[in-house]
Amino acid sequence: MTEHVVIIGSGPAAWAAAIYAARANLKPLVFEGAETEENRIAGTLPLGQLNLTTEVENYPGFPAGLLHGYIRSAVVENRVSTYLEPLHEHRHAVTGPELMNLMRQQAENFGTRIITDDVVELTLKKPPYQLKTLGGQNFETHTIIIATGARANYLGLESEERFKNRGVSACAVCDGALPRFRNKPLVVVGGGDSAVEEATYLTKYASTVHMLMRRDAFRASKIMQERARTNPKINIHYFREVDEVLGDDKGGVTGIRAKNNREGGTEDFPASGLFLAIGHTPNTDFLKGQVALNDKGYIKYTTLMRTYTSVPGVFAAGDVADDYYRQAVTSAGTGCMAALDAERYLAAMGL
Ligand code: NDP
Repeated sequence: MTEHVVIIGSGPAAWAAAIYAARANLKPLVFEGAETEENRIAGTLPLGQLNLTTEVENYPGFPAGLLHGYIRSAVVENRVSTYLEPLHEHRHAVTGPELMNLMRQQAENFGTRIITDDVVELTLKKPPYQLKTLGGQNFETHTIIIATGARANYLGLESEERFKNRGVSACAVCDGALPRFRNKPLVVVGGGDSAVEEATYLTKYASTVHMLMRRDAFRASKIMQERARTNPKINIHYFREVDEVLGDDKGGVTGIRAKNNREGGTEDFPASGLFLAIGHTPNTDFLKGQVALNDKGYIKYTTLMRTYTSVPGVFAAGDVADDYYRQAVTSAGTGCMAALDAERYLAAMGL
């Protein structure tokens, strides 16, 4: 059987595409990703980056309120996020995991089929296109919407690699509550909105959070900068670059050695954890050069205001093709566009 629309990914772009394709009777098949340890460490588990965040204050349609009852009534019982529920004792914005489960549910309600596996290989030489999953299944499809998003970057230090999972993390929300970080000093690297978000979140558990930035300025928005500056548990250090993650095999991370790139010399920050928030890399490795990418590895759109890629019938949506806006709402928007583009492509082909 040849599928009409295959969607690869499970963030806002993927679910928006699925909702539109399903409502157009195209019976989309979504590969939401595999629940593997590799994906956990890389930050590429099902439901993507939003599943690794807390409140989403800027997704239109979810002003702060008591959303608890609505979410419980809309999403199947076993997918309601429980670990964030205490937030809803007070007025609050929707959380990332809730938003993702709401979107997933909405796609499923209209007949979307979902496979919890990674697509590891695509053959795009000529349509219909072939794809293979990590679990060894093969599929054929007329169109593909690639919405695999992006993942967090690491510094690339040997010592960082050594302590991944033992104090080094790129996701405060996933790991911040672990006992090893409680009431201990922690280090966050980066000065963007993500870094401030991570640092702020970590102050719930840590004794102190040191934010290290490589230059003398944040990249974060003014409101987020203010949030960091006014939090008494956050200490900001400019001109610092991590030289080495200190630690031992038994206890994991014990500190961070950072060089001062303005004055020279190094300084050791005792810490039980290092959290990286230094930008992202698009998840395009599995494409193996079959779709044109830009110099940063993001999928290139070939036509203005269309989600066309270099391969006819293959469309891209969300962060995998966006190194500029990277917002949940822009991703959902391009997901919708990709589904409409796929629908029109199929109609033009008489399929
Ligand atoms: P950004 O690209 O905005 O920031 C990356 C930060 O990491 C910068 O401070 C950068 O420093 C630093 N950095 C990059 N590489 C290195 C390195 N090798 N060593 C040390 N520091 C490094 O990424 P974010 O992930 O923070 O944000 C991405 C997008 O997501 C943005 O559009 C942001 O607005 C959005 N976002 C919005 C949120 C919200 O609204 N609540 C929350 C989180 C993200 P330098 O400035 O020197 O290059």
